[in-house]
Order: sequence, then C-alpha cells, then structure tokens
Amino acid sequence: MKKWSAVVLCAGALIIGAVIIACQGESPMESKAQSDIPWKVHDPDRPMPPVIDPGPAGPPAPAPSDAVILFDGTDLSLWEDAKGNPARWKVEEGAMEVVKKTGSIRTKGRFGSCQLHVEWASPAEVSGESQGRGNSGVFLMEIYEVQVLDCYQNATYADGMTASIYGQYPPAVNACRPPGEWQSYDIIFHRPVFDEDGRLARPAFMTVFHNGVLVQDHMELTGPTAHKARPPYKAHADKLPISLQDHGNPVRFRNIWIRELPDRD
Ligand code: MG
Repeated sequence: MKKWSAVVLCAGALIIGAVIIACQGESPMESKAQSDIPWKVHDPDRPMPPVIDPGPAGPPAPAPSDAVILFDGTDLSLWEDAKGNPARWKVEEGAMEVVKKTGSIRTKGRFGSCQLHVEWASPAEVSGESQGRGNSGVFLMEIYEVQVLDCYQNATYADGMTASIYGQYPPAVNACRPPGEWQSYDIIFHRPVFDEDGRLARPAFMTVFHNGVLVQDHMELTGPTAHKARPPYKAHADKLPISLQDHGNPVRFRNIWIRELPDRD
C-alpha cells in the first residue's frame, strides 16, 4: 500500500470513529446519573447502610387538608388492577393487603410530581429471606419504584433493600421497624420532563423519608425501575397512576394520601 493511501485510510477511520463517539455522546435519553453510579446493578459488594432505630410506630399520620385521600381504610374504590378491572386485594381492619397472584394495583387517578404518604407493614409472621420477605413496592407513575421489603435482620443486595430506589440507590440508613409493625414512607417526587421530540429534558428526582428518617436526599433517577438492569428513560405521559406491587407476599397498606406538586422550571 502506498504511503498516501494509508494516510487517507487512517484519517477516514479516525473521522468515522469520531462520528460514532459523538453520536453516542448525544444519546438524548441517557440521564447523567446513569453513568455516575459506581456500582453495578444489584452489586453484592455494594455496602449496606447502617442500621438505626427510627423509634416506635405511632397512629396513622393525619392527612393535611389539601391532600387527596387515596385509601382511608374502607374500600378500594379508587384503585384498579393493571387491566382496569376492580382491585382484588383484601380490605380488613382499616388496611388493604396484597392477595397473591391478583396482580399489582394502581390508582384510577393520575399524578405527576407529588408528595406521597404511604403506611405499610410486612407480615408479622416472618417467611422467606432476602427479596422473598415482605416484598412489595410503591411505584410512582407505575414506573419508578421505592422498594417495600422487610429488611429487619434480613440481608439482601443494597440497591434492593427497604426504601431503596430499586436497582439504583440504597437508602442512607436502614430505618426498618420489626415485621408486623406499621412503617411509613413520605416521598417527594419530581417527574421526568420530556421535550416535544420525546427526548429527556430533565430527569426524575426523589426524596424519601422512611419512618420519618431522611433516607433518599433529592436523588436523580437514572431511568425507569427494572430488575437486573438500568434502562434509559423512555418518554411517557406527564401524569400516570401510582401503583402498589403484588410480589406474592401479604404486605398491608393503610392511610395513603397525596399532594400534587408543581413542576419546577
Ligand atoms: Mg418490590
């Protein structure tokens, strides 16, 4: 090969390489945080947060006057299953309880950015281990999960434990109460924003208090919740239902209310 043609070939390869890298760098749906998490999804080596005692459970937290009550302990009239059929979970003694294999349930109402209060209790009778013990979940927009799990003396992977943003961020501390006791989540959620072409304009952010303890401090979500993966954002509606997961364990919920929040500029 002549010298000049080798130079041309090398230059061509460099230009093509640069174009490929530039195109990858412009990937519109990837949140910055997606590449920032220095741990693999469900990494068994990721450190577990310290265990703390959040103090004893109290009575249900009163809802403020501007909240929308999603469940007051009497019935599931504001909920449906994923196909839009009536929710088939059990309602008993002021709480709803997951009925295995009836499927996750969701609100009939749709919400975007919000403050959400949820109280839950894992089964008093301990059964299973790791992800099989008291597993459920609170999904914002049916897409972004705050994990519900019994992590009172129950080891699992850090980004899948109680109050984790599943697959992304473990809580700052393990603030679990013993199984059977009522616990609370207060979640401040800012939905992701997409531009007219469906590209991510602003990622979702979440702040979570578990039993009154700050465990997720304005965390930037990498994308939708998935198992063994951190997929990129995919454009969706501005408002979608809140859903609660049927993971096969009889987890109970009570006193669920929501306050819609304005989107930030
Ligand atoms: Mg779950």
